[in-house]
Amino acid sequence: MAAAGIPAGEAADHAVSGKSSLVDAWERVRRRLRAELGEDVFSSWFARVELAGIIDGVAYLTVPTRFLKSWLEAHYAERLRVNCIAELPAPNGIMLSVRQVSRDSSQAVVIEPAAFRARPAAAATNAATAQAPSTAGSGAPPCERDLVDACGTVLDRRLNFQNFIVGKSNQLAFAAAERIAAAPAGSTPYNPLYLHAGVGLGKTHLLQAIAQEARRQGKRVAYFTADRFMYGFVAALKSQTALAFKEKLRGIDLLVVDDVQFIQGKSIQQEFGHTINALIDAGKQIVVAGDRLANDLEALDERIRSRLGGGLVVEVGELDEALRAKILGSRLETLHAAHPNFHVNPDVVTYVARVVATNGRDLDGAANRLLAHATLSGQPVTLETAEAAIRDLVRTREPRRVKIEDIQKLVATRYNVSRADILSERRTAAVVKPRQIAMYLSKALTPRSLPEIGRRFGGRDHTTVLHAVRKIEKAITEDRSLHDEVDLLKRMLQE
Ligand code: ADP
Ligand code: MG
Repeated sequence: MAAAGIPAGEAADHAVSGKSSLVDAWERVRRRLRAELGEDVFSSWFARVELAGIIDGVAYLTVPTRFLKSWLEAHYAERLRVNCIAELPAPNGIMLSVRQVSRDSSQAVVIEPAAFRARPAAAATNAATAQAPSTAGSGAPPCERDLVDACGTVLDRRLNFQNFIVGKSNQLAFAAAERIAAAPAGSTPYNPLYLHAGVGLGKTHLLQAIAQEARRQGKRVAYFTADRFMYGFVAALKSQTALAFKEKLRGIDLLVVDDVQFIQGKSIQQEFGHTINALIDAGKQIVVAGDRLANDLEALDERIRSRLGGGLVVEVGELDEALRAKILGSRLETLHAAHPNFHVNPDVVTYVARVVATNGRDLDGAANRLLAHATLSGQPVTLETAEAAIRDLVRTREPRRVKIEDIQKLVATRYNVSRADILSERRTAAVVKPRQIAMYLSKALTPRSLPEIGRRFGGRDHTTVLHAVRKIEKAITEDRSLHDEVDLLKRMLQE
């Protein structure tokens, strides 16, 4: 393994070059960017970029949203790269990824079944060599690991098989998951199992259910989200034991990796690939979930994709209305158990399951809102109160109302002109193009009429607006990069 990893946020005593020098260096990168691009651009696009660490001479930067990632890649990749190379020990460039903030991603752990501690000495030795990657090198004291513990273990007790409602769209995934969880250690019914589905359709629920059930059966389980895998990898490098993940993980029976689409970066991907291969070859069960087909995971190496796609691949489909009603019903029952005065009649469940048509996450949100509403008002839940309670939930699913002023500001920032330029009479190309794009976006994203848009663009005639709209419409069918750019602007405005 080449250079040691240097996680930016970790204690200096482990880092090769101290924490403070790296923090200072990152501050210098930020200062350069601010000086080069100006305060406006800097605060729009760079203020929330963080340095996660440096591995093999690559600086790993994280941002809070996918949009910001694609935007920076599309417009500022080179500038970021040049400035990072200039100030950081990162001769091999940069890698951008999206920071994961979700309930299930706060920690990665190796979960030891209670039964394991009572096993004979041979197995215990094995356990000693298989340290939790998340604590490797962090100096954390050894601790009792349970579903929730001082180490921040994250398995959520609620996400078990009993609470998982089976319907047409997920029955295959459920059956495979149960089978794997129940199989004796060392036998691998489908290896690897690759689950894919859109957001909120139960991937994490099934993965956690597998991990909990396997653990209950006395198997040793490691559960990771992609970002914890990445941080764990940094920690493993930092500990300088030169032990690769696969060594650390060889004592386990089952490896579960959630949200594999977020695994980024060449050496981390390689390590992930090695880990998967080594564990499969050693007869360990692997379960992986992603948001798309393995073959469409562009960030991953071709060989990993084919390995993931080479086992059992199961898609979890959209939840139909009946399934949504059952999931909601079961969630409400749980709430009722904790709040005996909280009742929701079947009509209301049917209504909510019909209008909240997106996914399990939003159904959870709806159930919580009904409870909050009932608790605060002290009134039973009726169709009317239910409608009021979830109205804003349903509304937040609609695209955001976009204001012409916001369009003008965003487009101006993007093209390095001022909003006044856009409204002005100036006809230089540097101003005309952003002006036309802003007019086009105003037509596409707001209900305003052409004359109204004209007035808002410095009192122009509606034919000028029409001309701009047609021109951009045509241009984006002919120019791929312009198309992508306008698309990004649209998404940004609606985000
Ligand atoms: P994903 O990981 O695919 O984005 P999650 O597993 O986090 O989705 O599911 C989102 C929410 O919906 C969770 O609270 C989960 O328990 C619930 N959910 C999804 N599908 C089901 C199901 N079939 N039965 C019960 N709850 C479900
Ligand atoms: Mg998930």
